[in-house]
Amino acid sequence: MAAIEITARGVVQGVGFRPFVHRLASRCGLAGWVENTPGSVVLHLEGDAAALSRFRALFGPEIPPAARVTRLSVRKAAPTGVAGFTIRASRRDGIALSTIPPDIATCPECLRELADPADRRHRYPFTNCTNCGPRFTIVTSLPYDRERTSMAAFPLCAACRKEYADPTDRRFHAEPNACPACGPRLSVRGGDGATVETDDPIGTAAAAILGGSIVAVRGLGGFQLAVDATNDDAIRVLRKRKRREEKPFAVMFRDIGSVRVAGRITVADEAILHSPRAPVLLVPARPRSPLAPSVSMGLPTAGVFLPYTPLHRMLLDRADRPLVMTSGNAADEPIAIGNGEAMSRLRGIADLFLLHDREVVQRSDDSVVRRVGRGIYPIRRARGFVPAPVTLPRSFPDVVGLGGEMKNTFCFLKGDAAYLSQHIGDLEQAPARDFYEEAYRFFRRFLDARPRAACHDLHPAYFTTAFAERAGADRLFGLQHHKAHIFSALADNGFDGKAVGVAFDGTGYGEDGAVWGGEFFAVDGMDVRRAGHLAYFPLPGGDAAVREPWRTALSLLRTTLGAAEAESAARELFPGISGISIRRVLEALEKKINVVPTSSAGRLFDAVSAICGLCVRSSYEGQAPMLLEGVAARAAAGTYPFTLAEEGGQLTIDWSELLRGTVADARGRLPAKTISRKFHDTLAAAVVAAASLLAESGGARHVVLSGGVFQNVTLLSRVLSGLRSRKLSPLIHRQVPANDGGISLGQAYYAAAQVAGG
Ligand SMILES: [Zn+2]
Ligand SMILES: [Zn+2]
Repeated sequence: MAAIEITARGVVQGVGFRPFVHRLASRCGLAGWVENTPGSVVLHLEGDAAALSRFRALFGPEIPPAARVTRLSVRKAAPTGVAGFTIRASRRDGIALSTIPPDIATCPECLRELADPADRRHRYPFTNCTNCGPRFTIVTSLPYDRERTSMAAFPLCAACRKEYADPTDRRFHAEPNACPACGPRLSVRGGDGATVETDDPIGTAAAAILGGSIVAVRGLGGFQLAVDATNDDAIRVLRKRKRREEKPFAVMFRDIGSVRVAGRITVADEAILHSPRAPVLLVPARPRSPLAPSVSMGLPTAGVFLPYTPLHRMLLDRADRPLVMTSGNAADEPIAIGNGEAMSRLRGIADLFLLHDREVVQRSDDSVVRRVGRGIYPIRRARGFVPAPVTLPRSFPDVVGLGGEMKNTFCFLKGDAAYLSQHIGDLEQAPARDFYEEAYRFFRRFLDARPRAACHDLHPAYFTTAFAERAGADRLFGLQHHKAHIFSALADNGFDGKAVGVAFDGTGYGEDGAVWGGEFFAVDGMDVRRAGHLAYFPLPGGDAAVREPWRTALSLLRTTLGAAEAESAARELFPGISGISIRRVLEALEKKINVVPTSSAGRLFDAVSAICGLCVRSSYEGQAPMLLEGVAARAAAGTYPFTLAEEGGQLTIDWSELLRGTVADARGRLPAKTISRKFHDTLAAAVVAAASLLAESGGARHVVLSGGVFQNVTLLSRVLSGLRSRKLSPLIHRQVPANDGGISLGQAYYAAAQVAGG
């Protein structure tokens, strides 16, 4: 007789973990118990040595699909002589947010029941079990029990109660358990809010969509707007009403087979789409895709995902064609969650409302990822991911990172776990700021957080910088934006040691007052120092330059070619821009009016995109670089020259010859795809060369890559292979976005180290 104790940490509660252990232990003939403790599940197992090793062999491979074990420890224990195996009641003391799992996509068993006419949950749009269903989005307070979720309004019927209480049942302690007899119901309202009588709400909604209407659907983390993705006119109407001119829409497909018709996907992509997190995945679109051109507006990628609730599944089955599924909001507002809220805020956008009576408590948009290698590379982290923590290499004091202004998230760090909020968005408008404060209070209360420090961006005008005073922390730290990116990547990888950090980004407030965005850092543990950057160039007119990439391009033309030659090149390359506008910008540059120096890699992409004629004016953030990446030819076409120089102790990448080359090629009428490919290859080579030099001089073998520009997988993959060929180990983001959605983690990580260090 022997005994062991296993402790599993990570996403292990509310995901069917204890019933799974119960079944496996019984199968192996082991006695003992399993219980939830704060942040972990503890197993005590007794039996003969062979049974114990059989359990350990089967344990890993059979873990429930929605569970994610980030740490597992096994130790010998003293046998107690216990008989049989039991699931012990939860120990409630001090249980924190770690016990709320993220929302989980409908599992295969529930889908089977949904389609089975003999099952009592046949076509019931709120079917779920311990392996799937809503979690984070229904929680009102802790501990995570039915009474403290929006399911409290639906008392369990006798049949559901029996399942809920049975340790051997798939629905044992499934808090959102429901059936047609006792659970939530659908209803339909017209665009004017008037009740629509129907005994088939999903059929009514599907028919409206097929007729070209825009239907607001109350989903899991809030409302979505559903439109026939093959109907160009309907999508154009949606764009107009939502004031979203060109930014691509995500499309939900009925099944993997229909995804394959529209996008080129690999086996690894299928695994991501089918995963319990069910994110939107960006994939290359097929040339003869059935999707209307207005879905992606010239981008060669498509954001695809699969139904992740029974309601979505049924809607897609009935519509039987891909549907645009975009967040239910007007421009610059957070996603709507309440029925009344949606009917007032989406009035004039939606023609029909498909509603239900289960309150959405936590706003949560769909998550967006790309694939790099076999793994995911997050772009927007929300539904399916939040509030699962990022596990850190060691324990730290309680702190909070407040995030930046765009694509905001915040991050509470507690012990060895970092809890990022869901994607909150751009904090320029009041409704988004309200959402930030509401989510902040929620996380703080749920985590019982008493932050000893709060960390904000250096930018004095950011909302989060002002909010820092109200964050409820003892100390405040300001951290430069791109250092935060590097700390974020270090935390994401649990890396501690010497490295070179590369932060290629749009813009961030620099320590010298310049706009940074193409930075290299020497990393030694928690010491991060700037060691190099892209050569500065003058950025004319701040925000106007971001909206109108031709302005940045003109500045670069002037720097490399001189004012006179720049003017004639600009007239040739930007025929849609008036000569007066061109001269006005040149004049401002000459007199240094409203001009700041920048090292931004993002702005360099903007400029080349404009020079290639792809994006002279931009209608959404990131459009110019995305269009440039989109056209990059697959075959190598040569590179442009560049030089590395040293200036004031900083390694600088001089891009002037690179730019001269792109202009010559553009004026020589070379296709944009060739110029783009040469530009990507050159910039990647420059990054690799600079990183190699810094690695050598600093004795580092690792290179961490962060910043929004590294969402560009064409650039990223070339940098990765370049680094590997130089025997350097690249580290990239895997848990949080490389863009500004990830910096709150870096801020928290930095502040925690400062507090721990005294
Ligand atoms: Zn299920
Ligand atoms: Zn029931």
